[in-house]
Amino acid sequence: MATARPRVAYWFRTDLRLHDSPALKAALDLEPEVLWPIFTWDPHYVYRVKAGSNRWQYLLDCQQDLSDSILKLNPKSKLFVIREAPQTLFPKLFEALKVTHLVFERDTDVYARERDKLVTGAAKKAGVEVVTRYGRTLWDSDEVVAKNGGKPTMSITQLQAAGHKVGEIPRPIPAPDRLPDPGEMPLHFDQERAPTTVDLNAPHRSKADKTYDSIAGPKGDFAIVTLEELGFPAATTPHRGGETLALKQLDKIMADEKYAATFRKPNTSPAAFEPQSTTLLSPHMHFGALSARLFYWRAREVVEKYGKGASKPPESLTGQLLFRDMYFAAQAAIGLPYMQTLNNVYVRFIPWHLPSQHEETETGTVAISSKYHIDSPQANKWFKRWKAGVTGFPFVDALMRQLRIEGWIHHLGRHMVACFLTRGGCYVHWERGADVFEELLIDHEPASNAGNWQWLSCTAFFSQYFRCYSPVAFGQKWDKNGDFIRRWVPELKHLDAKYIYEPRKATRAALDKAGVRVEGDGLGNNRNEGLNIYPEAMFDFKERRSVCMSAMKRAFSIGLHGNDEAVRNGTWKQLFERAGETEMEGMDGVDGVGGSDDEGEYADDADADHESHHILKGRKGGKHTRNKSDAVKEGPMDRHVKRLKS
Ligand SMILES: Cc1cc2nc3c(=O)[nH]c(=O)nc-3n(C[C@H](O)[C@H](O)[C@H](O)COP(=O)(O)OP(=O)(O)OC[C@H]3O[C@@H](n4cnc5c(N)ncnc54)[C@H](O)[C@@H]3O)c2cc1C
Repeated sequence: MATARPRVAYWFRTDLRLHDSPALKAALDLEPEVLWPIFTWDPHYVYRVKAGSNRWQYLLDCQQDLSDSILKLNPKSKLFVIREAPQTLFPKLFEALKVTHLVFERDTDVYARERDKLVTGAAKKAGVEVVTRYGRTLWDSDEVVAKNGGKPTMSITQLQAAGHKVGEIPRPIPAPDRLPDPGEMPLHFDQERAPTTVDLNAPHRSKADKTYDSIAGPKGDFAIVTLEELGFPAATTPHRGGETLALKQLDKIMADEKYAATFRKPNTSPAAFEPQSTTLLSPHMHFGALSARLFYWRAREVVEKYGKGASKPPESLTGQLLFRDMYFAAQAAIGLPYMQTLNNVYVRFIPWHLPSQHEETETGTVAISSKYHIDSPQANKWFKRWKAGVTGFPFVDALMRQLRIEGWIHHLGRHMVACFLTRGGCYVHWERGADVFEELLIDHEPASNAGNWQWLSCTAFFSQYFRCYSPVAFGQKWDKNGDFIRRWVPELKHLDAKYIYEPRKATRAALDKAGVRVEGDGLGNNRNEGLNIYPEAMFDFKERRSVCMSAMKRAFSIGLHGNDEAVRNGTWKQLFERAGETEMEGMDGVDGVGGSDDEGEYADDADADHESHHILKGRKGGKHTRNKSDAVKEGPMDRHVKRLKS
């Protein structure tokens, strides 16, 4: 008697592609009788992960492109989008479709692991075999962790050593040339609606979310969701998603052999636009529209062919992908605390302003929430100005506005704004910055985002806090004329290049000629006789830099980490007070009180130091060689408030 052939539910998640998909290959190797390509519209991501229109549009692009590609291989098939949480949907689906196998690409993200555990348990209970493969990274992150002694990879060297032990990075698998038919799709069961008491994306919605109005979409055809249904306004980003575009972009990059083979990240400009100086492949990889291994091997082949003069990791293109793997493996090892300071043994405790509030998660653990304590109204105002791109530092503002409109900024631009918000200006918690990036980036990747914020704030991965980005000198290094600023800060479009990074220094005549006034904080409704208004700088950068460095030095010498008892029970404060530190959480203002005004506040010289723009040298660090000012006689917030009052 012939045995029945498998009935496979293929669950697409972070792998919205057909090429180089080990999980899809495993599904096809089962020689299924039927295969349903399924995407579950998971309320966790709809309501509990912050994302604006730009990232949603990118996801929908990727889904549409994948669905079109599936249809090309089999006109009876497509991507079936089912609108319910996978945890409640799959048990019903297993029964309704008589599924024998569930196949998916593994995901090491914290929520995903929990979700997959539940779904796998339900599958076992239903007698459904679960087949999984890793596919998001160069190496299997869990294997890397195992080869790294069960520890997170906190440096590129550790990643390379562990990766070496895992073995050669697998060569990419070609896309299939045919796909089985899907079976019938009778959904004779009720849709379970998730509670929507928490909706972190409510601020982005201009209309009500209708995505769960019916389980198979408004026409019952399992269509891709639309931005309209989500209640979001149209996207503003020019960047579009999908495997077809991703592969085209990869081809274009690799066709320019010199660019690809000699790519050195520290030499790429954060001020370049149309085109940008790096590949812009990160959002494609985030959604799995491009395989990291295909990218890696294509880059490696170009390098090998090019020979002398080609770049090497970590600066090269392949090196960039190693950084990505390093963060994924670090997250895989640390789990939930990876995303935060609390309970994270690897993250230094720095008493930044605006610390996160904590709450119990869906899975019962304590984690940071999207709410924070306003310990300092002044720092809160700086944070708001940073987020809105109205700090009065044109290079920072240009980057933050590009982030808001396009959802992507160059890596060194991310360095600039992250350093400025944390240890090189505002002394605001890196978790606030990571939160804003989560909301605005089209390539937001939890592992890369949290890890890079830790790096930039010198709380983990990197410790050279005395290397600090100047919003003036760093921008000028790449773009003397300020073309990038002119593009994103149109108020300053006609300002003389001499003043474009520091409009406060411009003469009245220069400002008149450019048709701009420098006044206010940028948050209000600034209109002045038809002139453009650009905000005043929100602080004296040089002063803030020195305050932050002193505070960092103190925090490093106290040496607490996220899992220390003193951090958990709040007694850390005594240690810092004893050490004479004043720039810290809770040392200024009252919880929840509105901001004081910093209008007109801007002092002397902007810093002209050349900072480290490179992430690639001396990452052991820790030696304090350049700290100019260790003395903190009174809190900087105190000084500000005093000055504002006088
Ligand atoms: C504060 C901060 C937050 C960040 N948040 C994210 C994020 O949420 N998602 C994200 O993908 N990247 C993040 N990065 C890393 C990096 O900035 C982006 O990956 C990169 O700018 C994407 O542009 P690209 O594709 O042109 O990069 P390229 O320079 O062309 O590099 C190729 C690929 O390598 C990977 N890569 C390069 N650098 C890094 C890095 N430092 N860390 C991880 N992967 C890297 C990316 O996948 C990228 O697409 C962040 C960096 C900083 C400083």
